[in-house]
Amino acid sequence: MIYADWAADAPICDSAKASLVSGMELFGNSSSVHAAGLSVRAVIEEAREAVAALIGCDADEVYFTSGGTEADNLAVLGGYEYAKCVLGRDVIVTSTIEHAAVLKTVRNLESNGADVRYVDAAERDASGEATGRVLARDFADKIEGAGLVCLMYANNETGTIQPIREVAELAHEAGAIVFCDAVQAVGHVKINVRELGVDMLSLSGHKFGAPGGIGALYVRRRITIPPMMHGGGQERGLRSGTLPTMLISALGAACTEANCDMAHEESVRALRDYIAGELLSIDGAHRNGSAEYALPGVLNISFDGVGGEELANLCGLRGVCVSTGSACHSGNGIASEVLLSMGFDTDRAGGAIRISIGHSTTESDAHEIVRTVRDSVALIRG
Ligand code: PLP
Repeated sequence: MIYADWAADAPICDSAKASLVSGMELFGNSSSVHAAGLSVRAVIEEAREAVAALIGCDADEVYFTSGGTEADNLAVLGGYEYAKCVLGRDVIVTSTIEHAAVLKTVRNLESNGADVRYVDAAERDASGEATGRVLARDFADKIEGAGLVCLMYANNETGTIQPIREVAELAHEAGAIVFCDAVQAVGHVKINVRELGVDMLSLSGHKFGAPGGIGALYVRRRITIPPMMHGGGQERGLRSGTLPTMLISALGAACTEANCDMAHEESVRALRDYIAGELLSIDGAHRNGSAEYALPGVLNISFDGVGGEELANLCGLRGVCVSTGSACHSGNGIASEVLLSMGFDTDRAGGAIRISIGHSTTESDAHEIVRTVRDSVALIRG
């Protein structure tokens, strides 16, 4: 099997595996003040330092969550409360290409009275083709009176990187706080929350080498958001619940490994570019998303006359795992909302597959991915 679906779930890295194994010997509740509790607490705080080092913040600005979805919910719900209660504003500005963990949370707030303004991914390249990027000026047009601005770092279907820094600057000038869902980007490209100028940022371990079920939210010091769950007051009152030491320690290990592994970014990008070049040379092939502003390992592509689901299934039968758009939506036969909102017709949006690779993808894997996709397209076209 060749795995080309890293954007859905990345393989667990060696150091995270090792820390899971050694973590099984650990016991004690990190809130206890006896020796067992203190030693577990030390492991957790070491992992917090590793997360902070990866994204360029201080350890006391990192809050552990159960993953990206929870971190996104916490940021949107908490950020909205902060905007209303501290800034006296109930306007949220966000993009239409956010992951469902953000978009559905925002829509829920909207149905309860929040004033939400949406920005499409309207940028076009010189040939008039959609790039999958939002335009900072479209945010500027909608930002007056905003309290919370949400924009993802990179889209989970296209891999397209968004103009976060520019939008964060506009938001701050307008007096709003900024949340960035960086679940697809952390561990794959260098991220520094201070340089980006964001107030909150989410990440998820299973996208870059940790197991599923663990993530984190960065919240800038002096931004005080309320918890979603009530309980023992762990994580400085923001996220109650006994901390999962083993998962947290694996997340810390994955962060440290990813920090060193950033050197792989260029080789992953080179393999992705090889795959893209070969597949785009097929008649009627279209890249969905920017080639310039792209995560190194992600390629979203459609072929005229070929359904994405059929293509992904056929590749799967031939031993190459790819997906149609986001894994959350694959299998439901519905054209990608993200691609539709970029202005593509239903054929192109419904024909898309996402190929996503990582640092352990080899050259021979890349050749096999190309061969399999090319043969499958030919077979479907007859
Ligand atoms: N945000 C983005 C951009 C994602 O791609 C995903 C998962 O695919 C999530 C949030 C949700 O993360 P998790 O699977 O850790 O809940």
